[in-house]
Amino acid sequence: MKLKIRTGFGYDVHQLQEGLDFWLGGIKIPYTHGALGHSDADVLIHVICDALLGAANMRDIGYHFSDKDPKYKGIDSKILLKEVMHLLSREGYEVGNIDSTICLQEPKVNPHIPAMKTCLAEVMGIPEEDISIKATTTEHLGFVGKKEGVAAFATVLIVKE
Ligand SMILES: [Zn+2]
Repeated sequence: MKLKIRTGFGYDVHQLQEGLDFWLGGIKIPYTHGALGHSDADVLIHVICDALLGAANMRDIGYHFSDKDPKYKGIDSKILLKEVMHLLSREGYEVGNIDSTICLQEPKVNPHIPAMKTCLAEVMGIPEEDISIKATTTEHLGFVGKKEGVAAFATVLIVKE
């Protein structure tokens, strides 16, 4: 039996705009602003999708779910994540672990991390202990620091026997 282990990486940015719902890590965060996008603009889910697809060498989220396609307008990103998990399991891959960082000046992300982990674990069908979510500000520097946007990074490990 030969074990195939691969890593993947994801990066994404969304603008913040007043009055929008702020979806992050599969849950709605209470805030005056929300992320702007064709889908629900959940930046954490998007980077996890991209990292998973990258690990399997299956292009990126925009390739599978085009932002030109009206079918995906306002779509719950959890549906996209579920579909990505299907694509990977069809190729025989299982998720080893995920590590991620959300870059956001405001509001505080840390209090919401347990709920995000619970939500994502259920959507992906993997244990919460395999999902790490971290948060940082950028010390008021750049578009994150100026509260113009939210960014995220993720790495994943996937395994096939
Ligand atoms: Zn995105």
